Amino acid sequence: MNPKESDQPKASGMLSVVSTPLGNLGDITARSLELLRTADLVLCEDTRTTGMLLKHLGIQAVLKSYHAYNEHVILDKILEQLQSGAKMVLVSDAGTPGISDPGFLLIRHLLQHRIKVDVAPGPSAILPALLLSGFPCDRFVFEGFLPLKKGRATRINALKTEARTIILYESPHRILRTVKDLAEILGPDRQACLARELTKLHQEIIHLPLADLARHCESKPPKGEIVLVLQGASKDKAGD
Ligand code: SAM
Repeated sequence: MNPKESDQPKASGMLSVVSTPLGNLGDITARSLELLRTADLVLCEDTRTTGMLLKHLGIQAVLKSYHAYNEHVILDKILEQLQSGAKMVLVSDAGTPGISDPGFLLIRHLLQHRIKVDVAPGPSAILPALLLSGFPCDRFVFEGFLPLKKGRATRINALKTEARTIILYESPHRILRTVKDLAEILGPDRQACLARELTKLHQEIIHLPLADLARHCESKPPKGEIVLVLQGASKDKAGD
């Protein structure tokens, strides 16, 4: 997409992308609350999850499913409603839509059709994990979830020479395998930080080299939601 400068958004509806708390309700912003309160329609991954959140926040809203399985097919329907003047909010189950969650396709589609899109910034697991890792945060890369099969080794190999701090999302079922694979390819001594249940009651931050972290995950399998942060490659191994 290469919008011309004269391509101003049409005077129509608007989509606001709103981040929701990862676990601590206090992390919702005043602006997000206002947008949710005044939306004609809230697009969400799971209407039960968002319905519960809105109930806790004391907000009544009309909810519509927008998730990985239907996002391709409902793009034009959403576009039509926005062209008719609707004010919509997009949320995901938790954190920021589009970040390892649905959102990108819709945002791109609407921008291509010159619909106004705005973002109310808020919680995402990336930044708290990065800061709590204590690794350099002036430059970092977000890798999302590693592929399960095809391309997995290639992706990990590419990280061997990555000098910036690396952020990965992982599930508790796969964390042991991932830490073991990373230790094997990046080396057992690469410093890592496992950030678990961020912003929640049982938040836990573990700093260990990869080989020790693998042993830790084996003896005490981590539960809940996990971000894995890796120190970047040292200068002698870095690619640039
Ligand atoms: N959109 C979300 C965001 O902005 O962070 C991410 C959604 S992705 C489907 C879910 C993954 O995010 C989890 O598997 C975990 O890696 C990470 N995550 C979400 N909440 C977390 C939390 N409270 N603590 C640690 N990691 C979390």
